[in-house]
Amino acid sequence: MSDRDGKIWMDGALVDWRDAKIHVLTHTLHYGCGAFEGVRAYHTAQGTAIFRLQEHTERLFNSAKILRMKIPFSLQEVMDAQREVVRANKLDSCYLRPLTWLGSEKLGVSPKGNTVHLMIAAWPWGAYLGEEGLRRGIRVKTSSYTRHHVNITMTQAKAVSNYTNSILANMEATEDGYDEAMLLDASGFVSEGAGENLFIVRGGTVYTPDLSAGALNGITRNTIFAICRDLGISVVEKRITRDEVYVADEAFFTGTAAEVTPIRELDRIQIGAGARGPVTEKIQTAFFDIVNGRNPKYAEWLTKV
Ligand code: PMP
Repeated sequence: MSDRDGKIWMDGALVDWRDAKIHVLTHTLHYGCGAFEGVRAYHTAQGTAIFRLQEHTERLFNSAKILRMKIPFSLQEVMDAQREVVRANKLDSCYLRPLTWLGSEKLGVSPKGNTVHLMIAAWPWGAYLGEEGLRRGIRVKTSSYTRHHVNITMTQAKAVSNYTNSILANMEATEDGYDEAMLLDASGFVSEGAGENLFIVRGGTVYTPDLSAGALNGITRNTIFAICRDLGISVVEKRITRDEVYVADEAFFTGTAAEVTPIRELDRIQIGAGARGPVTEKIQTAFFDIVNGRNPKYAEWLTKV
């Protein structure tokens, strides 16, 4: 991924893609204290626009705050920089990856004495769980790995180190022939996917785990709440057990990368009709209308680049 043309914004300036490098003694590389975002820009009739740029950038700053890192740029500067990266790479629709990390001034667990850095890269990235997954639904496995407890790593920080848990769960599931993992919290209640929030539909009501199960406060999750309000569908945040997912009418994952991906199977048990369900399809359609600028009610969620 590193050997290609393009520009990456690094500590305040656009640098050539191949030159966006850091030292091997970078603190974050050794101890995992860093934070990132996943953001998408979509093609709209008014031009390329970044979806919920402010909320993603605020979450990046909050992640850094939780990790006691001070990003040396203002929120506005980081928002402007994301627009600049999309423009500089002449991207029509893309995924953006801002990342903040600790420098290489010193090692040792204490990060004191290290500088804080920020980079933003952007590249085209299609459906995270596949185009077919968006249409037909994916097959999911309950992970043997427990999701982070809320007082072990900080679950509301999109921290670099939190993703070892996601990687282990995803590798276990995909090596077993599934598309993605679903993780349970330390009490055995459903938390989230390796990189997605989870929703189920039962009797026309939509349910999702409350954040005490250690799930990230997903921006797509919040978008689904708005969509459901508009569609007159009630959403309940509550504790969910894995067998509630087995007997749900429908289930789906949400995320910036995953968008709205139906789940057709969990642990080889078919969910509902084993296909994208009608409520999921309605929500998915409404989601793509919003991100592609076809719903004027949410125009303020789209920032033109
Ligand atoms: N949970 C995890 C662990 C994630 O990595 C993501 C992706 N950022 C999500 C949930 C969904 O969050 P969002 O909708 O803000 O992308």
